[in-house]
Amino acid sequence: MAEIAVIGAGMGAMAASARLALAGHRVTVHERSGTHGGGVRRLERDGFGFDTGPGVLHLPAVYRDLFLKTGRRKLEKCVELVPVDPAERHVFPDGTAATLPNASRAGVVRALDSAAGPGAGEAWTALLDRGRRVWEAARRPLVEEPLPADPGVLAADFYPAAPPPPARGLLRRLRGPRPAAPPATVADVGAGELGAYPVLGALLAQHALAYGFDPRHAPAGTAMLPYVQETFGGWYVRGGIRALADALYERCLERRIEFAFGTEVVAVRVGADGRAAGVELAGGGGADADAVIAGVPRARLAELAPGAYADVAPRAVRAVPARMTVCLALRGARDGDAVHRTVVHSPDAAGELAWIFDGRPETDVSPTVTVLRPDDPALRPDDGHEAVTLTAVVPAGAWADGGEKAAEAFADLMVAAAGRAVPGLAERVLWREVRTPADIAAETGAPGGAVPGPALAGAGGAYLAQPNATAVPGLYAVGGWSHPGGGLAHAGMSGALVAGLIMEGADFRGSR
Ligand SMILES: Cc1cc2nc3c(=O)[nH]c(=O)nc-3n(C[C@H](O)[C@H](O)[C@H](O)COP(=O)(O)OP(=O)(O)OC[C@H]3O[C@@H](n4cnc5c(N)ncnc54)[C@H](O)[C@@H]3O)c2cc1C
Repeated sequence: MAEIAVIGAGMGAMAASARLALAGHRVTVHERSGTHGGGVRRLERDGFGFDTGPGVLHLPAVYRDLFLKTGRRKLEKCVELVPVDPAERHVFPDGTAATLPNASRAGVVRALDSAAGPGAGEAWTALLDRGRRVWEAARRPLVEEPLPADPGVLAADFYPAAPPPPARGLLRRLRGPRPAAPPATVADVGAGELGAYPVLGALLAQHALAYGFDPRHAPAGTAMLPYVQETFGGWYVRGGIRALADALYERCLERRIEFAFGTEVVAVRVGADGRAAGVELAGGGGADADAVIAGVPRARLAELAPGAYADVAPRAVRAVPARMTVCLALRGARDGDAVHRTVVHSPDAAGELAWIFDGRPETDVSPTVTVLRPDDPALRPDDGHEAVTLTAVVPAGAWADGGEKAAEAFADLMVAAAGRAVPGLAERVLWREVRTPADIAAETGAPGGAVPGPALAGAGGAYLAQPNATAVPGLYAVGGWSHPGGGLAHAGMSGALVAGLIMEGADFRGSR
């Protein structure tokens, strides 16, 4: 039995803790804030409730496995999972709208044909088939195994070349079918393979942006994300996604994990043998441990243990954006046919990307806004009211220096954009609360409130996260900033990988 010190009570750290405690290790979680869950929070006021972190759970199998392996009650006994159906509605700048059903390819084809013209559904399906091939090829090394010491295999994109257009007659006899080179980026896929249907290019680009990726640079294999989303569906947790963090915390308590809240770790102790030996705490004191797990942002871990990434070749620096969230308490009942998740696309996507990723000044930015309208009585005081959450991807650190007025003006833009999907929205607002990247930074410790996306293959490895085993023996990294990257499901997977590495050693190659 080993003594394990865990830094942070985010989802990745709690997932690793529960697995290790089941194996008999003594686990203590040191969390600097007063609560568990990291960025998975809930805002409650006047009977309204809002998820201020993720709004939909993808790949629930990750948490099913975690609950199955760490206790007697399975996930569905601890939280109520509700399929999000329709999966989402997209409202495009020209007024076109497409409502995509959950996990139904035929339904998606019909919806896209009617929104974007005959053939659009088939073109999207062909794209998702290529996304499937990426997922099948990349899945094991990319998310199910620890990052290999030489991640070279993941530096190249798995996105396949589209089949060549049929050559006819003499031409065919002369050269035979010649495969085209695969596109390099999401934008290339949009311009080339989806060029006949601009709506589909916008749809794919939005999928990349929703995870915080710049579609102009993100590898074409990003197409595996809409494939995964469509195939495995999206799920809402009754009571709000925060209920999943609560259930995981409860599971940790059942496994007798100790939580020390209000306890900030200021350094990782390293013994004379160079191994991690415990943690130093703010205000003095500390705790010895046989192994240390850090579920904190990469930049923070580099401060706590300066040698942690000594053996990692620096990767291309990529801007990781933050989120802006506007919680709206509305008078009036939720319409019976309201969709859980609607994406209102920006009429100036190029300008939006230039602001988020290129540092262009924030003038005349038209944000892409996600409108969340869960049908959940637990989130409203009564049926005569509704709780709606708006989110947008924004640059990390936006409005950091006293920019409250600018942040409020941006929130106005978000409400106006959401009004294109929910007519009369602005007139129904009783009150609103605006949560800027500074709030995310306060909750997670991530500089500028940056929210890391899932790891991707391709682009020379620029979209991979840091390895779970650090250069300091006995010190491990877990959660969204480490392999296999950010997001609820991915953080859960990182917990399984770190627990496996500690229990089985460096030869652990993922659970089979
Ligand atoms: C606004 C927002 C929207 C999101 N949307 C989605 C989404 O739609 N879909 C999705 O899948 N994911 C989404 N995510 C990401 C997802 O919530 C995270 O990837 C996931 O919860 C994993 O978090 P984590 O384990 O990295 O821990 P984090 O949530 O980053 O928590 C880190 C914890 O460590 C603590 N800590 C930091 N430094 C110290 C220290 N020195 N000592 C002690 N404690 C410390 C912090 O207080 C915090 O509790 C979103 C996140 C945010 C913030």
